[in-house]
Amino acid sequence: MGGGPAGMAAGLALTQAGADVEIVEASADWRPGGIGLALQSAPQRATKRLGIHGELVRVGRRHDVIDMCTADGTLIAQMPQMNVNGPEDPPLLGMTREAVHDVMVSAVARSRIPVRLGTTVEEIVSGVDDADVALSDGSHVTVDYVIGADGANSTLRHRLFPDAAEPAYAGQSIWRAAAVCPPGLDHYTMMLDGPLRLGLVPLPDGRLYLWMLDSGIGAERPPREDLLRLFHERLGRFGGFAPAVASQLTDTEQIDFRALTWLLMPPPWHAGRTLLIGDAVHTTTPHISYGAGLAIEDAVALGKLAASGMAFPEMAEKLAARRFERARAVVETSLQLSRWEQPPGPPEPAAPGRLIGQTLAFLAQRL
Ligand SMILES: Cc1cc2nc3c(=O)[nH]c(=O)nc-3n(C[C@H](O)[C@H](O)[C@H](O)COP(=O)(O)OP(=O)(O)OC[C@H]3O[C@@H](n4cnc5c(N)ncnc54)[C@H](O)[C@@H]3O)c2cc1C
Repeated sequence: MGGGPAGMAAGLALTQAGADVEIVEASADWRPGGIGLALQSAPQRATKRLGIHGELVRVGRRHDVIDMCTADGTLIAQMPQMNVNGPEDPPLLGMTREAVHDVMVSAVARSRIPVRLGTTVEEIVSGVDDADVALSDGSHVTVDYVIGADGANSTLRHRLFPDAAEPAYAGQSIWRAAAVCPPGLDHYTMMLDGPLRLGLVPLPDGRLYLWMLDSGIGAERPPREDLLRLFHERLGRFGGFAPAVASQLTDTEQIDFRALTWLLMPPPWHAGRTLLIGDAVHTTTPHISYGAGLAIEDAVALGKLAASGMAFPEMAEKLAARRFERARAVVETSLQLSRWEQPPGPPEPAAPGRLIGQTLAFLAQRL
C-alpha cells in the first residue's frame, strides 16, 4: 500500500523474489511531491539490486564534493562525499523527484506489477495463512501479506498501532524551489547564516534545486500573501550564486514551505499480516539526505528475506530487527544535526562534520 519510493522498491524487490505483487496508491495522478532528491552512495547500492541504478545515474548529476561557504559565498571547505561503490559510480547523486519517480514507475511497468491508482486499503482482516483486504474501489483481494508503505502520515500505522507516536516537529522548517542553474555553479553548495542553511544543488540539464533550512520561522506555513516576501528576506542574506537564483523566483507558486518532522518507531513493525516500511516507521529530517535511501534499502532487505522462503511473521520480525539500528542512525543523526542548527548550536564547530562522517561510515556497511 503506497506507491512512493518504499512501495515501488518493495514491489520490485518482492517481484524479483518470485512474489505476485500489486501496488495500491491513493493518489489518482501519482506524481511525486517535493522538488529534488539526493541519493547517497550506500542506498545507490540497493538501487543496483533493483536494476534501476544505471537509469538513475542517467537522469542524475554526480556530486563528488559539497562546497561549504560563508553567507557571502566565500569557500570555507570542500567535503568529499563517501563512495561505497565503484570509482565510476557517483558518490552523491542529485536528481529531480520527477525523474526518480519516472525511473521507478518504468521499472514497475517492466516488471508487470499492476498498480491501482486512486485506491486505498479500507480494511485488512488477517487470518493464519492469508489476509482479506477490502479496497476503497469496493473490491476484495486475498493476499499473503500487506506491505504498508504509505509514508510519514501512514493511516495503516495509525490503525494498527493506535498508541504509536505520530511524526513530531523537529524545530526547523524548509523552503524549497526549482530554478535554472546559474553559469559557473558546478558544485553542490551549502551556505550558512545564523538560523539559515542554504543548499544549491546543480541538477542535470542546467536545472537547480534550492533548499533552505530555517530554524527561526516555526512550524506554521506563513499566509500565502507573505510567503514570497518572507522567502526573499531570508534568501537575500546570502551572496555568491544566491542572488542569481533569487532573481528567478518571483511567484509564490514557485516556493514550497514545510515543517520538518521526525519519527522512529521501535519494532515490531508488523501486526497481523501487515508490515510497515519506509517513512511509515522512520521519518527523518533531510540533514544527511537519506530518507528515500532508507526506504529503498528497507525494500531490498525485505526482498532478500522473502526470497529465502521465510514465513511472514518471522520475515517481518527479522526485517525490523535488521533495519532498526540503521533507521535509528539516520533519524537520530539527522535530528541531532537539526538541533545543532538551532540555538545554542553545536558543542564545537567540528561536531556536525564528525557526526556525519561516523554515521555515513556506519551506513556504508552492507545491508
Ligand atoms: C524536505 C525533504 C527533503 C528530503 N530530501 C531527501 C533527499 O535528498 N534524499 C533522500 O534520500 N530522502 C530525502 N527525503 C526523504 C524522502 O522524501 C522520504 O524518506 C521518502 O519519500 C519516503 O518514501 P516512502 O515511500 O516511505 O513515503 P512517501 O514518499 O511519502 O510515499 C508514500 C506513498 O503512499 C501513498 N499513500 C499515502 N497514503 C495512502 C493510502 N492511505 N493508501 C494508498 N496509498 C497511500 C502516497 O500517495 C505516496 O505515493 C526528504 C524529505 C523531506 C521532507
